[in-house]
Amino acid sequence: MKQLTDFGDERTLQYCAFCGGETGTRDHCPSKVFLDKPFPENLPVVSACLACNSSFSIDEEYLACLIACVQAGSTDPEKITRERIAKTLKRQGSLRTRIDASISIIDGNTVFEPEWDRVKSVLIKLAQGHALYELHELVSFEPDDIWFFPLHVLTEVQRSNFESVTTFDMWPEVGSRAMQRMISGQDINHAGWIIVQPNTYRYVTSSSGAEIEVKIAISEYLGCIVKWFP
Ligand SMILES: [Zn+2]
Repeated sequence: MKQLTDFGDERTLQYCAFCGGETGTRDHCPSKVFLDKPFPENLPVVSACLACNSSFSIDEEYLACLIACVQAGSTDPEKITRERIAKTLKRQGSLRTRIDASISIIDGNTVFEPEWDRVKSVLIKLAQGHALYELHELVSFEPDDIWFFPLHVLTEVQRSNFESVTTFDMWPEVGSRAMQRMISGQDINHAGWIIVQPNTYRYVTSSSGAEIEVKIAISEYLGCIVKWFP
């Protein structure tokens, strides 16, 4: 990804993107566990407090492994195509056991019942990071709405709504990355999504005075929409 300098309000960047507390560290958003090597250059980075920075990593690893296992239909590392995830599952027997426990076979199909709270907390964190990085919006509180779903279960209309980028009449804040991307088209695909790594991670943010929306697609499997009405 190309480096985009933030010309925004310095005060926004002095707070943890996730809890609004004092910052002290910086966190990749998305974290590398959702990406494959070679990692893209200039990954988005947001300010974070030490507690938030470290507390999410276990849940992020869980979600990344879960998605890879669901896609493979198995927790067997030999069947996982993402090298990093296969290594993690080999190394962390307890994580594999935990994901195994969420599998059931229904009508001959492998079905996963994830730990919803963990999945939700990771997706909120990712959305908070994207909102701060792109829009200068510090939304360090619970969103008003969150939906997440396997992309392949969406109807054609739902999928088309998900893929379409919401455009508000209001332009993004001057100097924000969203504004710079709008002008330069950097890292944006034809539909307006920001591609962090093709087929691996993409997101799009939009904001009006009354609504902040972040949409995320992970591994082209899990889709997510998060909204705040500040
Ligand atoms: Zn924090």
